[in-house]
Amino acid sequence: MATVAFIGLGNMGGPMAANLAKAGHQVNAFDLSEAALKAVEEAGAKAFNSAKDAINGVEFVVSMLPADHHVEGVYLGDDGLVNYLTKDQLVIDCSTISSEAAMFVGGELEKAGIAFIDAPVSGGVGGAKAGTLTFICGGTESNVDRARVVLNDMGKNVFRAGDVGAGQIAKICNNMLLSVLMVGTSEALQLGKANGLDPKVLSEIMLQSSGRNWTLEVYNPCPGVMENVPSSNDYQGGFLVDLMAKDLGLAQQTALKVGAATPMGALTRNLYHSWSQQGHGRQDFSSIFNYVQPAPKK
Ligand code: NAD
Repeated sequence: MATVAFIGLGNMGGPMAANLAKAGHQVNAFDLSEAALKAVEEAGAKAFNSAKDAINGVEFVVSMLPADHHVEGVYLGDDGLVNYLTKDQLVIDCSTISSEAAMFVGGELEKAGIAFIDAPVSGGVGGAKAGTLTFICGGTESNVDRARVVLNDMGKNVFRAGDVGAGQIAKICNNMLLSVLMVGTSEALQLGKANGLDPKVLSEIMLQSSGRNWTLEVYNPCPGVMENVPSSNDYQGGFLVDLMAKDLGLAQQTALKVGAATPMGALTRNLYHSWSQQGHGRQDFSSIFNYVQPAPKK
């Protein structure tokens, strides 16, 4: 069993750290939120007052933080972990951030002799809780292999997309596609509903037809169609609109850099950005279902 420091215990990091503790690893946990720390303590992790204390003497450091500046701050900021990490430790950053930020942090750590991989995840909060996440890694083959002892107890698939930063590119390609599927599924369900169809029946029909996709399978955006998904819980407890908007911004930046054509990705980025600006940033991303509701009849 391994010794692991886990930094960032939110919707994703909390259940991921809990699964590591459940599997028998020693987990040293840190988050700025007292409530998040308390929850993982109850799941068997040991709570620490700082990231610096949590990483002392462990083999692996896993982070699951919101965005670029959080990751850069934790590792490279004033009194950042780069000053305290040791050469025998492996840093596994599971946050979804820009590939540039991953390469920057990884490069600075490498200069100090510390091994780093980016390992963003797919599978949502359900996958984090069930331990069925997909890890999409960037780093050397040997570092990715070394991480498996930890990743295998939080997920069921570990892919290596390429060198440091490549995990982030693959991850935003996936999330850009997911956003398109979520908006398209929402439109189809609203169209059927507005024409008198039962969204449950319509979902079953599309699930067995050519419109089948992940959102219909496990994350239906229409309230009441599926149990235990954010849409049936007032759009709470999943993947925030603000985080999806961030990922779609990253996808557009990445596309611009290489001149890739991503018209659908640009459209969904604008939809999520405007949905956030209308006050829905803290709701689950499937709440976009309400953005595409039919106009009231005049
Ligand atoms: P979240 O907002 O629920 O959790 C982030 C946690 O990080 C919070 O508990 C916060 O207190 C903590 N934090 C922030 N700064 C910190 C610091 N300096 N030190 C310690 N802790 C700090 O976010 P989440 O949904 O868990 O997402 C985390 C990452 O995973 C994001 O990059 C997101 O894009 C990605 N992701 C999320 C999902 C999902 O379904 N929620 C799915 C895949 C990937």
